[in-house]
Amino acid sequence: MQIIKTPAELNAYAAKVKSEGKTVGLVPTMGYLHEGHKSLIRKSSEQNDVTIVSVFVNPTQFGPSEDLETYPRDLERDKAAAEQAGADVIFHPEPEDMYPKRYGTYVSVDSGITKILCGKTRPGHFRGVATVVTKLFNISMADRAYFGQKDAQQLAVIMRMVSDLNMNIEIVPCPIVREADGLAMSSRNTYLSAEERSQALSLSAALKQAEDAIKNGRTNLDKIKRGIRDKISEAPLADIEYVESVTFPELEPCGGQLDRKTLIALAVRFGTTRLIDNIIVSPNQEG
Ligand code: AMP
Repeated sequence: MQIIKTPAELNAYAAKVKSEGKTVGLVPTMGYLHEGHKSLIRKSSEQNDVTIVSVFVNPTQFGPSEDLETYPRDLERDKAAAEQAGADVIFHPEPEDMYPKRYGTYVSVDSGITKILCGKTRPGHFRGVATVVTKLFNISMADRAYFGQKDAQQLAVIMRMVSDLNMNIEIVPCPIVREADGLAMSSRNTYLSAEERSQALSLSAALKQAEDAIKNGRTNLDKIKRGIRDKISEAPLADIEYVESVTFPELEPCGGQLDRKTLIALAVRFGTTRLIDNIIVSPNQEG
């Protein structure tokens, strides 16, 4: 597996690979790789001749009071994990190579979808994401790019951007990978104390309870969301930022009834750590 540091080198590598008629899969990450990331890498290496994993803690998607400085980093571990999952290249640029002096071009998905859910408390976040992802698409010349449903709003924003800007790339959504006890894997889980980690299980437990209720025929979204809030509120350290339901992937308001594909998403703080989780549900076919 190769480590490539600069956009110019990656672009030259990709151009050569493409000239040989090979397909390129891209897995954009911020590193500190876990099984969630590895599932994306595995899928890409199954579907493409070459898989490029970017490991880049992208400064433009962090707000001024967020965790850019403290975000966990361990490139040596990431190299081993990426290689094991089937990556051919790790792209690990320096911020100044991605955003050199006089850098001034940003991609904003300006429909309502960046203003709701996480966009409410993280203004500018999705502009940073859309910008870096566009750059990574261009540099890597990828045929396909892999994104986790864990970040469902991000996935929807990227799908919107690719459609709006006629980008010639296939977006491949990948399911959420969870720890054995249900906690959605995240590089940020490392911030949690033992007590917070234990109480954070309320998120997946609440979503599982909602999923079961829907399977049993429940369709009243307000009741479903109330049930989720009540369950999470049993954890004394949990500070709920939002529990919302919107259509997926359009992220438009849905009525009070579950009558189409719907994203039920939440963000909850435990101390200074902000966790997100979600389920995508459809009305019970059997009911
Ligand atoms: P990150 O490094 O957190 O920016 O995530 C990089 C990619 O991995 C994004 O597409 C995420 O949605 C995806 N990802 C992160 N955690 C998980 C998970 N638990 N399951 C599936 N995909 C994930």
